[in-house]
Amino acid sequence: MRILWMGAAALALTLPAAAQTLGGEVEKQMPSLMAIYKDLHANPELSFMEVRSAGILAAEARKLGFKVTEKVGGTGIVAVMENGPGPVVLVRADMDGLPVTEQTGLVGASKVRVTTKEGVETGVMHACGHDTHMTAWVGVARLMAANKAKWSGTLVMIGQPAEERGAGARMMLADGLYTRFPKPQYALAFHDAAQFPAGKIGYTPGYALANVDSVDILVKGLGGHGAYPQTTKDPIVLASRIVTTLQTLVSRETSPLDSAVVTVGSFHAGAKHNIISDEARLQLTVRSYTDEVRSHLLDGIARIAKGEAIAAGMPEDKMPVVSVDKNEYTPSTFNTPDFTEEMAAFLKTSFGDDRVVQMPPVMGGEDFSRFGREDKNIKSLIVWVGGVPQAEYDAAKKEGRTLPSLHSPFWAPDAPAVISTATEALTAMTMKLMAKK
Ligand SMILES: [Zn+2]
Ligand SMILES: [Zn+2]
Repeated sequence: MRILWMGAAALALTLPAAAQTLGGEVEKQMPSLMAIYKDLHANPELSFMEVRSAGILAAEARKLGFKVTEKVGGTGIVAVMENGPGPVVLVRADMDGLPVTEQTGLVGASKVRVTTKEGVETGVMHACGHDTHMTAWVGVARLMAANKAKWSGTLVMIGQPAEERGAGARMMLADGLYTRFPKPQYALAFHDAAQFPAGKIGYTPGYALANVDSVDILVKGLGGHGAYPQTTKDPIVLASRIVTTLQTLVSRETSPLDSAVVTVGSFHAGAKHNIISDEARLQLTVRSYTDEVRSHLLDGIARIAKGEAIAAGMPEDKMPVVSVDKNEYTPSTFNTPDFTEEMAAFLKTSFGDDRVVQMPPVMGGEDFSRFGREDKNIKSLIVWVGGVPQAEYDAAKKEGRTLPSLHSPFWAPDAPAVISTATEALTAMTMKLMAKK
């Protein structure tokens, strides 16, 4: 059995002199922050149900003198600290766990089980590491409160629900995040990273994460006996053609210089060998960076589905039904390029060049994007904080082994390294933006 709680003390020793002060303050907070982390890790809550987690963040912020409002956009919380004239800076942590049964075998692993609204019994796990996000959020709140004399401005710290459903940011904004509370000039967040070593900070100027759309296609057919296909319209053959033609959307219709993904992740039809069914159902994930590519892909899916149905001789009233789930759409994340470069250069001065590295964009999604998209004047940045224990990372590289990704039941970040690095990096950036002139 491996030990989960290690690493933070070792990291602190390697910090350059410039970061000693803040790093030292973080170090003092670590035992108490790790107690919060262990609690959050052992008690994960699914999207829209983050009541206990939100309560912990709210209570911590209240103790520090923040003005806290709960139930913003469902279970979201907003903690505001007004500290004189200056910019408004938003710092966000997401709070939801996933319907994943933890299999790390570690001390402190989640044993929580729930029955979802859909009636599925499942384990619940912070398999995306949002427990590290919440814990570092508490760390930032404490350090900002303790250093009030050094900054001037308004700090808006939010605990966001339902990131995994692509819904929480939208719901908080719809519930008046930017009208009932001070609207930020800057928005900051981090995400733990499962593909690089613990304690490293990754940044991506410009597009960092993708537009994510979920699309359902109901392909209608005319069912009948498998031995008399001429009396039917086979939806399996038609849906197969649709799947094949969809491949040309990316390979033939999208510029090779633009990024796009069309994946058919689910294909269901039929019940028996000798029956031609009367429908097939497809589920797709569709990803892109720009709005233009996104609408081309979505329009193209509808066009191809209809075109193939016409080619198969389907009557007008049996055209495929294509639905895009607007509630689970996550817009692409765009890190304001000049702001990102400026913050990265600043982080390098405290963490050193080898701990702050530029990362390529990925096709995953993050609804943090919405906080920056709301207004073009908001400068927004989400950084990665590496979570793979260094020894584990080195061994996997040597053996050519794939590391567990985020959302894996085996994802076990070096939590102290992630939390201490993220707390320090987010606090340093926030204080820099609100430094007393
Ligand atoms: Zn996730
Ligand atoms: Zn996540």
